[in-house]
Amino acid sequence: MPTLAVVGAQWGDEGKGKIVDYLAQEAHVVVRFQGGNNAGHSVKVGEELFKLHHLPSGILRSSKTAVIANGVVIDPGVLLEEVDGLRKRGKSVKNLRISERAHVIMPYHKLLDAAEEGMREGAKVGTTGRGIGPAYADKAARLGIRMGELVDQDLLEERLSFLVPLKNKMLQALGSDSRIDEKKVLDEYSEYGRRLKVHVTDTGGLLSDAIAKKRRVLFEGAQGTMLDIDHGTYPFVTSSNTVSGNAATGSGIPATAIDDIFGVTKAYTTRVGEGPFPTELFGELSTCIAEKGGEFGTTTGRNRRCGWLDLVVLRHAHALNGFTGLALTKIDILGGFDELKVCTHYTLDGRKTTRFPADLRRLKRCEPKYQVLEGWNDIEPKRMSKVLREGFSTLPSNMRKYIRFVERETGVRVVLLGLGRRRSETLDLRKRRW
Ligand code: GDP
Repeated sequence: MPTLAVVGAQWGDEGKGKIVDYLAQEAHVVVRFQGGNNAGHSVKVGEELFKLHHLPSGILRSSKTAVIANGVVIDPGVLLEEVDGLRKRGKSVKNLRISERAHVIMPYHKLLDAAEEGMREGAKVGTTGRGIGPAYADKAARLGIRMGELVDQDLLEERLSFLVPLKNKMLQALGSDSRIDEKKVLDEYSEYGRRLKVHVTDTGGLLSDAIAKKRRVLFEGAQGTMLDIDHGTYPFVTSSNTVSGNAATGSGIPATAIDDIFGVTKAYTTRVGEGPFPTELFGELSTCIAEKGGEFGTTTGRNRRCGWLDLVVLRHAHALNGFTGLALTKIDILGGFDELKVCTHYTLDGRKTTRFPADLRRLKRCEPKYQVLEGWNDIEPKRMSKVLREGFSTLPSNMRKYIRFVERETGVRVVLLGLGRRRSETLDLRKRRW
């Protein structure tokens, strides 16, 4: 693994945090390249649970350099809370590097997020309300404030004197009663800048040097492919590109510098918030998976919708990302079912389709078609240690069949298998003989 990008292959929450944390053992540098504090990773280290929103999971391993690259939008108050929280728990953050090109989420972004979502009435996109969409919109509109400006008080003051009156006019136009106090924002944000300054640098240069020296760099995606702003279920998507190509753009390195791309997928499917979800389950089965899998969002606490594994989605994700391996997570949650269904294709207006439609009206008319596979019993804790020690051949035989089915249908090898929440409950199949 000289350089490896790890991205979500579904609608996010695939368990990327744990996989990245596992792979971070081998890395020198761990990089976040897109998204904001709408990403939520839970990583269990021993008995301790860490919830990260802004920081790359690699931060939990003190010897690594953790980078928040240019493609990320940063809420500095939230980032500092996270940094302080880790320090209190004895974790060092001295190896944190933040791109001077990353954009800052400002208080008016959060107010505008709420005001805009309020105006959408029947067409809400299910934003987390953290100002991430408006911050990316300002980046594209050339109205953003970058970290390099946040840490320079004079520059920040100059930018705010132009932006605050503009944003207040926008808030008024959207019918919001909230207004931004320029002086208050300047005081608060220059203090954030002062505290974060030691971490802010040219991370693109840092990464280019690291790659030239053959250091192992891990790029950690947030959300998932189906939430990609171009290729996901638009408009029910996130505000950035979540696919592997953005690991390059979002970090300031060439696309040719990425050697491997792992897609993280649950052994079933979940989706949080609004938007289409062809293999969604309702009733008892859905509740059963949600409860067993603890399907409640790390960032929002919202319940996740649950459904069967969708291979149309996985193939779409592979076509976009070019996976060189799959990390199949939470397969333990599927234990105890007599039979399991996997969606192999859809029918659309009576015709078979294996492509994921861009038009949501067409997607709504798609009917998922399933292959039924036999289930397996939960792996007893006693047997689990043997499985983790001895590997693939000791897995329940129907679980192996399930894995092989996914591999055959997607054309991608399962390289990591998630068998539980703990860091140690990951089966590394990269050296498996086929
Ligand atoms: P992420 O945003 O993709 O990192 O996903 P989250 O952290 O939001 O959600 C994944 C949840 O599943 C977390 O609570 C993880 O601790 C948990 N998890 C990850 N992998 C596994 C696994 O293989 N088995 C089980 N049972 N839980 C897992």
